Amino acid sequence: MSSPVGHSLAGYVIAAWRDKSLKPRSLMLLGLYVFLANAPDLDFIPGILRGTPNMYHHGISHSIGFGFMFALVAGALISLRGGKRFGREFLFMFALYGSHLVLDLLSMDGRPPFGIPILWPFSDHYFMVPLLPPVMHSVLDDATIGQFLADVFSKHNLYVIGLEMMLTMPFLVILSLFSRRQVRHA
Ligand SMILES: [Zn+2]
Repeated sequence: MSSPVGHSLAGYVIAAWRDKSLKPRSLMLLGLYVFLANAPDLDFIPGILRGTPNMYHHGISHSIGFGFMFALVAGALISLRGGKRFGREFLFMFALYGSHLVLDLLSMDGRPPFGIPILWPFSDHYFMVPLLPPVMHSVLDDATIGQFLADVFSKHNLYVIGLEMMLTMPFLVILSLFSRRQVRHA
């Protein structure tokens, strides 16, 4: 998995791409987009309630099938309430959710079954393309909250967050050039 910082940065970049501006239209909306880019990791919650945070992590919430259903419902709600085009809202929601899946797919995973079931419901197979270092949160399914937190607040995870910030920079540069050009043409 990537860190919540990495997922949040991805959510910010996608929102900025849609708005053609690095300056968010509304901080509240940006908060919502960042939350949605992290949403698949809500699968930590049932485990945390049981005292073993990893127990249900990397289940079907990390799949395109779940992301599709999520985007369908969220896109429909937004377009109904705000009178916006459904297709556009659906794609935006799917992009936010999907950014999480792509980042997790590309991250090393030290806990079997390695990777995420990204093709569920078409396949239960777990996939991983380990290009990015993992975020540590214990490799044990039944790790206690103490073991989980000791890994989460490790130096290694600080290094991963730094790397994620560096990897985001080129996207921000491209976006800033693009949005400046938009302003000049306006
Ligand atoms: Zn995840």
